[in-house]
Amino acid sequence: MIFDVHCDALMKLWQDRSLSFHDGAPLHVTFSGMAEAGIKVQCFAIYVPETVPEEARFTAALEMVDIFFARIVEAFPSVKFVRTKQDIAALKEGEIGAMLTLEGCDAIGANLVKLKTLLRLGVASVGLTWNFPNAVADGAWEKRGAGLTAFGRQVVELLNETKRWADVSHLSERAFWDVIETACFPIASHSNAHRLCPHPRNLTDEQLKALIEKDGMIGINFVPYFLTKDKRRATIADVLRHLDHVCALGGENNVGFGSDFDGITETVSGLETVKQYDQLVNELYKHYSAEQASRFLFGNFYAHLPE
Ligand SMILES: [Zn+2]
Repeated sequence: MIFDVHCDALMKLWQDRSLSFHDGAPLHVTFSGMAEAGIKVQCFAIYVPETVPEEARFTAALEMVDIFFARIVEAFPSVKFVRTKQDIAALKEGEIGAMLTLEGCDAIGANLVKLKTLLRLGVASVGLTWNFPNAVADGAWEKRGAGLTAFGRQVVELLNETKRWADVSHLSERAFWDVIETACFPIASHSNAHRLCPHPRNLTDEQLKALIEKDGMIGINFVPYFLTKDKRRATIADVLRHLDHVCALGGENNVGFGSDFDGITETVSGLETVKQYDQLVNELYKHYSAEQASRFLFGNFYAHLPE
């Protein structure tokens, strides 16, 4: 069983309405791929590209919600919409849970009602920024590096009240620390270890330790340039190095996977699409006990869903 907390298939389906979610070639995550790999829960991020004008962003987000339900959930009898632990526990054998998440609050502007609406539509996890600044905070690429705004604090409080994950991936370091202070359910859905690959999108040991201390979660991603700085192709062994590193910091119960499939153009060798998750599963079972491997693949994220 696999629980993958981040992919961008919705963005691709929104950009090209002719793509087939069943097995469309340019998609990394497809229905047949998920079924073959043994995905139990896949998160689908609403990510509105920054090229979309501000006034059109919320509509774009709603269009992605529509695509999520029409093309992913309703189109396949064995795919079920899930938001809570109870929803996932109720999945029958052979059923796949599809979870809706938000990547970056750019789509809501500075309007809390828009966020409340997305939460009511079933968004389970909210990424506060993408790489740029927005009304909530600064993203990882913004040199100013500001923390949470007053509006951003309202957003985190709403996530606490409604028991949703506050996702720190893509935040500036300052905003990261603000969220660690204020969020009840912090996760980094797709971030790796800065110590092993220095990149502003990766988390330093202090940040990883803070997430672990807060009993948050870290999703290791399959983004080649977040995995290695070497001029060679990233491999599954690199994914395991980042996983080992989080475990060495005491995070054995606080780590899982957020592939970033469909959000990437380059891929890890041997882990090109969701179908190849079985290769990672094989390696995990070689290097860890069955109990540990199953927690990394599914149990840790499941256990950390707010109740
Ligand atoms: Zn991302």
